[in-house]
Amino acid sequence: MDMTGVGSAEGLAAWVARGEEMAAAEDRERARMREMRFDTIAVHGIYSAEAALANQGSIIEPAYLSPAQHFADSDHLEAALGYLMPAWGYTRIANPTLHYLGETLALLEAYGTGTTASAVVTGSGMAAVDMAVTPFLTDDGTGRRPSVVVGARCYGGTFQLFRERFARERGVDVRWVREPLDTAEWARLTDGTTRLLYGEMPSNPTLSVLDIPAVAGIAHDAGVPLVVDATVATPALMRPLGLGADVVVHSVSKSIAASGLAIAGAVVARHGIVSRHGPDDLREDFAAHVKLLPMRDHGPALSPFNALMALTDLRTLRGRMDAWSRSAMRVARFLEAHPAVERVHYPGLPSDPGHQVAARTMWLADGADGEGEPANRFGHLMAFTVRGGQPAARRVLDGLRLVRRATDLGRVKSIATIPSISTHQQQGEEGRAIADVPPNLIRLSVGAEHPADVEADLAEALARV
Ligand SMILES: *Cc1c(COP(=O)(O)O)cnc(C)c1O
Repeated sequence: MDMTGVGSAEGLAAWVARGEEMAAAEDRERARMREMRFDTIAVHGIYSAEAALANQGSIIEPAYLSPAQHFADSDHLEAALGYLMPAWGYTRIANPTLHYLGETLALLEAYGTGTTASAVVTGSGMAAVDMAVTPFLTDDGTGRRPSVVVGARCYGGTFQLFRERFARERGVDVRWVREPLDTAEWARLTDGTTRLLYGEMPSNPTLSVLDIPAVAGIAHDAGVPLVVDATVATPALMRPLGLGADVVVHSVSKSIAASGLAIAGAVVARHGIVSRHGPDDLREDFAAHVKLLPMRDHGPALSPFNALMALTDLRTLRGRMDAWSRSAMRVARFLEAHPAVERVHYPGLPSDPGHQVAARTMWLADGADGEGEPANRFGHLMAFTVRGGQPAARRVLDGLRLVRRATDLGRVKSIATIPSISTHQQQGEEGRAIADVPPNLIRLSVGAEHPADVEADLAEALARV
């Protein structure tokens, strides 16, 4: 005999009704914040004055380190665990601090796009990539091998996830688009077996550009979603959901949490994504689907402490991305004019093959003056090749004294690496050929130092070529 709810049907209903009130209050706060500017959203998210009072008045969102929530009674427990009311229950599934981070990111990604979005935060950027892709690769009962179409110029970890985990281990047909700017190639590789299109904009490490509106059109014609990794741009410089993308992925570890105190990731999706594959709830609210089902079972949860670190930096995202993009533009021009440099990859340079598409799609939120004066900003990551092959690139890297040598980017401190021997080492020579990562490429993330000091450090190092 099913005893569920016996003697407590009224109690359960009362909790469900209470949950509806809680959800409505958050909806009102979301609607109120949608009217605010980017910086205001970044600072407050949906942590309202009422929410602060409910947290002993703490003006900053508290880090709820407790793994679990205490419930008032068994009806409350049942309603919460049945996903019948807002609750957090257990930190692997949800947690107040993670909630505030996710809500803020969702509002920022939807900013000015006319779309509504929700988000789920993850333990790392790679967990976010995995959680954004895996739900589309489920068995459809036809026995046909699923395919995905992926921009080959991508982060090394993402390349390995697709090639090793999905293609080699699980038999997914991974089709690489070697030149992501070539829209016709995306169309050529997409067919009836395709579950999704995936690309980075701009890409790590070669700052390749993706024409999101064009590729989203191809995806939607095929009835599948476009997933965009926008880690390098951040929502301060580009809002892919407004350009037609269905799902946005972030390594929150990078520019969003630029102080470098936490690893974190996020999946942000607009409501009503295009996907002929998968259940209705996946289409209606993909991020909620991921949070309540695959995340619950796979378990790549974010630590609440790391969520607080990320939130702390997120508040100042727009101003930082503006200032650091301007520094990076200056450094890119300096490198382009340097005789030891072969080529600079930076979409802000008019000479860059992706410049025109980037200039159409990368806009600083609220403009240069914060009042909507349109301004292109191209981020603080770039890459350049030096004359003399890898030995010369190593001499340059070894000659840096201010810029740090590390496999990291998006930091307050300037950082450089040689991708072929670091981030893109494990994919091997053949993989690097597909992804176009030459041995003499140096990736440079420009930080918050004065750009003249970064240039002086680069000049000294380049003198060793
Ligand atoms: C770093 C990075 C990732 C992976 O993020 P982690 O937080 O390191 O797991 C994914 N995509 C891009 C573009 C990245 O730069």
